[in-house]
Amino acid sequence: MSTTRFFEQVNLNFDRASKFLKYEDGLLEQIKACNTVCHFTFPLKKDDGTIDTIHAWRAQHSQHKLPTKGGIRYSMMVNEDEVKALAALMTYKCAVVDVPFGGAKGGVRIERKNYSEAELQRITRRFTFELASKNFIGPEIDVPAPDYGTGEQEMAWIVDTFLAIDPSLHAEGCVTGKPIGLGGIRGRTEATGRGVFFGIREACDNAEDMKALGLEKGIAGKSVIVQGFGNVGYHSVKYLMEADARITGICEYDGAIYNEKGIDVEAVFKHMQEHGTITSFPDATFVEDSKSVMEYDCDILVPAALESQITEQNASRIKARIIGEGANGPTTQEAHDIIKERGALVIPDNYLNAGGVTVSYFEWLKNLSHVRFGRMERRFEESSARRMLEAMQFMTNRSLSDDEIARISQGASERDIVDSGLEDTMISAYNQINELRKEHNTDLRTAAFISAIKKVAVTYERMGIFP
Ligand code: NAD
Repeated sequence: MSTTRFFEQVNLNFDRASKFLKYEDGLLEQIKACNTVCHFTFPLKKDDGTIDTIHAWRAQHSQHKLPTKGGIRYSMMVNEDEVKALAALMTYKCAVVDVPFGGAKGGVRIERKNYSEAELQRITRRFTFELASKNFIGPEIDVPAPDYGTGEQEMAWIVDTFLAIDPSLHAEGCVTGKPIGLGGIRGRTEATGRGVFFGIREACDNAEDMKALGLEKGIAGKSVIVQGFGNVGYHSVKYLMEADARITGICEYDGAIYNEKGIDVEAVFKHMQEHGTITSFPDATFVEDSKSVMEYDCDILVPAALESQITEQNASRIKARIIGEGANGPTTQEAHDIIKERGALVIPDNYLNAGGVTVSYFEWLKNLSHVRFGRMERRFEESSARRMLEAMQFMTNRSLSDDEIARISQGASERDIVDSGLEDTMISAYNQINELRKEHNTDLRTAAFISAIKKVAVTYERMGIFP
């Protein structure tokens, strides 16, 4: 399936869910529509003096909550349809996990490896300037974040450019996923993958659901294959491995590696940093046809690269019992139905990869409040816990070592608070959508859309537009 149909795919899933609800067609059409999309071009003077014309987009799907929020992608596949689809997914995702943002997405159509660091910096700064001049960025308007092909460095250039244009009180909140020194938050880089882990763990902890899939309860011992070893893919399997899952396959754009006994994810990460590829990793078998490894036997498959990777062409050959969608839109609706027919469980993107936007929300709150989470209460919590322990030691006539006291009484750091907020969000949202799944006798994706549509519709109803 080509990306030209991606927005339509999102809408097909929306339509399927809306059949379970009783809303006016006009309201449903408004929720589905992408409110604003902007395409612009600008020149880039390359290091060799030649000039490239750069195409860029920003879509704001829904302003039912402000600001709108969504990542910025650098990829040759970026086009208007893709940003509209991804912006729509952001609206639904934020609603599913109760993050009060409308959905947005942006992209620049470039093959990033063809540009030098200096060229990427010029592209990013000019892109930010274009967004600002069109009122498409700002802490109260629209807040970008990292996505495919971008990371902390691009977010640093964005905030620096924006601050030069608008040095106002909350300006740091114009973008999330920033480095700590520029207003970032501890735990954002790994947040999406950590959320993927929490979501899969929650699904696997449901004994009844696992029994229906013919699997044991829990993550330990389950075999996992991942497609895409970037930010989301690497962190997802890192946490799954730490919970004693066996990572048997890693698929990248230039080939895959496979080892039935399990692959040390950290060693692969180090290898990739040193050699620029996973394909020469020594402790696994190299497979040239990367996509074929997604069809190998495993308990959990985590597509974490791009959209439309599981289609009606390969869906019937996918053997995983659980598909955990780290990427946005990796499974088409036709493929989803084939997998569902086989009795496997799809944990959908509009829930499972919401960890990134959840922690982005925490970062944005930190930028608006100008105070690090935990700063005010950490010491107080520690001394209260110490006083409690002293009283308990006195009453029980038992003494604890200094190490034990320090460990038990430790106050929560920013990282602890972020992690706890993320875990709580992913657990509550999973249980909400799993309940809806059972109530309507449907699948998790449809249930997530039902949850999202209801929450967005409530906002419109409160606005009085659709009484
Ligand atoms: P990334 O650029 O860090 O990593 C993507 C990886 O996929 C790269 O290593 C790339 O080489 C690999 N890849 C590309 N094409 C491939 C192919 N055909 N087969 C196998 N591997 C391939 O990007 P990311 O931030 O990890 O994003 C991945 C997906 O997750 C995207 O769909 C993105 O929209 C989604 N997502 C990202 C975030 C985030 O916080 N970064 C949040 C939510 C969703």
